[in-house]
Amino acid sequence: MTAEQKNLLLHVCCGPCAAGCVDRIPEGWQPVLFFSNSNIATRAEYDRRLAEVHKLSAITRLRVVEDDYNHDAWLAAVAGLEREPEGGARCRRCFRFNLSRAARKAAELGCARFTTTLTVSPRKNSAQIFEAGRESGPFLDVDFKKQDGFAHSVAMSRQYGMYRQASCGCEFAPARPVLS
Ligand code: SF4
Repeated sequence: MTAEQKNLLLHVCCGPCAAGCVDRIPEGWQPVLFFSNSNIATRAEYDRRLAEVHKLSAITRLRVVEDDYNHDAWLAAVAGLEREPEGGARCRRCFRFNLSRAARKAAELGCARFTTTLTVSPRKNSAQIFEAGRESGPFLDVDFKKQDGFAHSVAMSRQYGMYRQASCGCEFAPARPVLS
């Protein structure tokens, strides 16, 4: 990190998405990877995704910080929204849950801002994510899906030999063909 760079907490939804984001961080920011994804069911799947983030950390030499896993707390946060379609109210609550934790961790670690790799997915609405981020704290708007960001993440995750999952994470999300 150079003297002009500031720390940016990068909430990482999974290794494959992060693989296409870490080399597209806005100039002047040094990312710290933050794995905070209590939305993921099950613990085994959570551990599998976390392992891919550690793999990325080893390749890029970026520091990774892991949050506590508390799926029960996440389930309580989305209670009553289980039947919402993907992209609806449950997902907005989910973004807020994870990004609030990212905001707290950014403050704890002395990071001036935080952002998230969630915007790289073509299945996620970046405006919804920005709104949840801004409501949570000093969020830096970065739309990683710009400039073919998702195709870039697929290419990089292939290059790194990463596991790419078939569902967003929670038990209410439909399993779908892996995007490529
Ligand atoms: S589908 Fe994905 S974003 Fe929506 S609530 Fe489930 S884990 Fe969260």
